[in-house]
Amino acid sequence: MSPGAAKGAGEGRRLLISGNWKMNHDHFQAIATVQRLLYRLGPPEYAAAEVSIHPPFTDLRSIQVLLENDDPPIALGAQHCYWEDSGAFTGEISPVMLQKLGVRYVIAGHSERRMLFGDTDETVARRARAILDHSMVPIICVGETEAEREEGRSIERITSQVKGSLAGLSPEEIAGSVIAYEPIWAIGTGRTATPEDAQEGCAAVRTEVASIAGETAANSLRVQYGGSVKPANAKELMDLADVDGVLVGGASLDADAFAEIVSAVAS
Ligand code: PEP
Repeated sequence: MSPGAAKGAGEGRRLLISGNWKMNHDHFQAIATVQRLLYRLGPPEYAAAEVSIHPPFTDLRSIQVLLENDDPPIALGAQHCYWEDSGAFTGEISPVMLQKLGVRYVIAGHSERRMLFGDTDETVARRARAILDHSMVPIICVGETEAEREEGRSIERITSQVKGSLAGLSPEEIAGSVIAYEPIWAIGTGRTATPEDAQEGCAAVRTEVASIAGETAANSLRVQYGGSVKPANAKELMDLADVDGVLVGGASLDADAFAEIVSAVAS
């Protein structure tokens, strides 16, 4: 694919490369990482893909200031949020607070939130609703476990998560959202899905979206692949017909590795 090319017949789906830092990097490390990233990325990279970074909440303000000063085309992202605007919800972060910080993308239902903190399709759908209500874009994560894969239930799992997590959203809202297909067995394990597996999973997401919200929404919605993406495999994955970008965990902590993932599609 040539730099700046968009996918989806006539739909102009722009690649989105997102870095999920998880619970890593304090605000000093965050500033250093983003400064290095700004040094490594330039017009060819920004033309080839949209880039978002998703640091811990405590880093957001520092990075917002850094990005505002330099005005680079990197979008600020969050890893999670609650669905209420305010109130007695100790420890939670409101979508209003994220919007005020200039956050554009919010991850909802990452598999670590689903497995460790009780997120379900229903709570993911409530988060997605709140994110959209505050003019931000949800990146909704779906993906099967290793056991489900071995039992031949990957597509069934992906399909039911897509359906449950999009409940209550209009076709227009779905069209502007992002779904990340992240097979759980590939997250943080170094085992990237084969191109065939990644394409099959992302295509299954799009097929289900078409049945829920229609072909137009399915052709507009961006589908990312996530799971052990590295500079060496990024381009091959993003060249796949139904992969509109990547959600990167471990490799996004290192500004040079993350910049190389973006550069891979700009070359
Ligand atoms: C993730 O956290 O969403 C992820 C895909 O992690 P990793 O790239 O480390 O597998």
